[in-house]
Amino acid sequence: MMQGEIMKILVCLRIGPDGEISPFDECAYELALSVENAEVSLLTMGEIKVKDKLLSLTRLGAKTAYLLNDNAFVGSDTLATAYALSLAVKKIKPDLVFCGRQSLIGDTAQTGVMLAQKLNFNLITNVMSIESLDKNSIVCQTRDEGKISAKTPTLITVERINSLRLPSIRSKSGEVKVFSANDVNAQISKCGLSGSPTKVLDTKENTSGKRKCKFITFEQLESVINSSLEKEQKEFENKITNQKLNKALCITNAPKKYAENLFENIVIHEKNDVNSVISKIKAEKPDAVLFGSDSVSKRVSALVAAKMDLGLCADCTALQVVSNTLYMIRPALSGSVIAKIKSETKPALATVRTTKSSSNIVVSAGFGAKTSIEKVKKFAKKISADLGASRKCVDNGILPYEMQVGLTGKTISPKVYIAIGISGAVHHIVGMSKSATVIAINPDKNAPIFEYADYGIISEFNL
Ligand SMILES: Cc1cc2nc3c(=O)[nH]c(=O)nc-3n(C[C@H](O)[C@H](O)[C@H](O)COP(=O)(O)OP(=O)(O)OC[C@H]3O[C@@H](n4cnc5c(N)ncnc54)[C@H](O)[C@@H]3O)c2cc1C
Repeated sequence: MMQGEIMKILVCLRIGPDGEISPFDECAYELALSVENAEVSLLTMGEIKVKDKLLSLTRLGAKTAYLLNDNAFVGSDTLATAYALSLAVKKIKPDLVFCGRQSLIGDTAQTGVMLAQKLNFNLITNVMSIESLDKNSIVCQTRDEGKISAKTPTLITVERINSLRLPSIRSKSGEVKVFSANDVNAQISKCGLSGSPTKVLDTKENTSGKRKCKFITFEQLESVINSSLEKEQKEFENKITNQKLNKALCITNAPKKYAENLFENIVIHEKNDVNSVISKIKAEKPDAVLFGSDSVSKRVSALVAAKMDLGLCADCTALQVVSNTLYMIRPALSGSVIAKIKSETKPALATVRTTKSSSNIVVSAGFGAKTSIEKVKKFAKKISADLGASRKCVDNGILPYEMQVGLTGKTISPKVYIAIGISGAVHHIVGMSKSATVIAINPDKNAPIFEYADYGIISEFNL
C-alpha cells in the first residue's frame, strides 16, 4: 500500500444472545486488524445489550463500533439483515467490508453475499489470505477458486484462517454508536419480519444421520469397506406426496434429484451465472429455483435472491410439497435442530446439499488419533482414501484446515467415511452425516460417533 494511505475497513459481526461471535467473524476482524495503515470499525445488528460486547471488542483495535438497533429490525432473515446493514455501510463509507464466511446461528453463508449485492460492491468469497491491497484494488487467495482480484470498494467473506488476538492490558476502548432504523433512513416494510421473505414454520430435534451401529473387528474392516463401496449411495430424504408443483428450474444438473416427484416440469439451466439465471427465471417463471451447494452456487443464489428480492433457503436436505406450497427442510442452530421453512416470494429459491467427495473413501482423523497420525495417513494411502480431520485435530496442528470436516469446515458425502479417534460432536456430524456408509474406530464404547455409524470398532487405532 502507498505510504500515508489509510484504508477504511468495516467488519460485520453477528453477535449471539450470549455475546458469542461466530469464529468466521472473529477471523474477519483479525484479518482486518492485520492490515497495515487500516482504520478498522465494526458493525452489527442486534439487541442493545450487545453494546457492552462491542465496546470490549474495540479494545482490540477498532476505533468505532456501530450497532443497528431498532424494534423494526427484529425477526430479520438474511435478506432483511443485508438490507439494514447496507444502509449503515452507506453511511459509514468504508473502502472494504469484511464478513465471516457464515454465522453459526444461521450458518447460511448468505448475508455477506447479499450485502455486497445491495451495496453494489465487488465480492470475493471464501478468502484464505490477502495477497496485496491498496486503495484501488485487493487480491485474495480463495479456498476453491485460486487467486481473485477486485477493484475497491469490495466485500470479502473470510474462512476460519486465524485466531482473534486478546486485548492488551493497556488497550483503550473506542466508542459505540447506535443507529436506529430512522438514522439509516430504512423503509420499515423492508425490515424485520415484514421485510423477510423466508419464514421458519417449525423446528424439531435433528436426529437425521443417526444409524444403527454394527460392531466389527479390524479383521472384518477390509471386507466391510469393499461391500460398502458397492452399495448405492443413500438418497436424500424428500417426502414424496402425490401433489406436484408446476415447474422447477435447476441450476446445473446437480440439484435435479431434489425436484423429481415434486414438480411436473424440470428445466435444467447449465450456466451458473447471476445474469443468465435471472433471465432464465424471468423467461420460465418457475415455482422454485434449485441450486447445488458448492461455493459458486451458494454465491450465485444469494446474489440472485438479493437482486430480485426473493427468499432463499440455504443447504436444504429435503423438500416437500403440501397443499400447493413448497416447504424447505434444513439443519439449523449448528445442526442441532431441523427447520421447516417456507418462502413468501415466488419463485422459492433454495440451495440443496449436493456436495460430493472427489474420492470414494475419506479417512478422517480426530484428536484421539494424535499419536497414531502417521499410521492413519499410511492406512488412507493404502486404501486410496482422501484425508479428513476434526476441528480439534486441526486446531492442534495435526492436520491442515483444508481437511476439516464439519460446521466450520467442509461438508462431504463420500461412499465410505472412516472416523478414527473422533468423538462425534454435532459440529462434526453435520459435515459428514450424508456419507453413504460410516465406520467409526474409537476405544470409548459410549462415544457419540457410534450413534452415527453403520459399523464400529471399539478399539484404539491399531493398523
Ligand atoms: C462453533 C463451533 C464450531 C465447530 N466446528 C467444528 C467442525 O467444523 N468440525 C469438527 O470436527 N468440530 C467442530 N467443532 C468442535 C466440536 O464441537 C468438537 O470439539 C470436536 O469435533 C472434537 O474433536 P475430536 O472428536 O477429534 O476430539 P475429542 O472430542 O477430544 O475426541 C477424541 C476421541 O478420540 C477417542 N480416542 C482417544 N484415544 C484414541 C485412540 N488411541 N484411538 C482412537 N480413538 C481414540 C476418544 O475416546 C474420543 O472419543 C466446533 C465447535 C464449535 C463450538
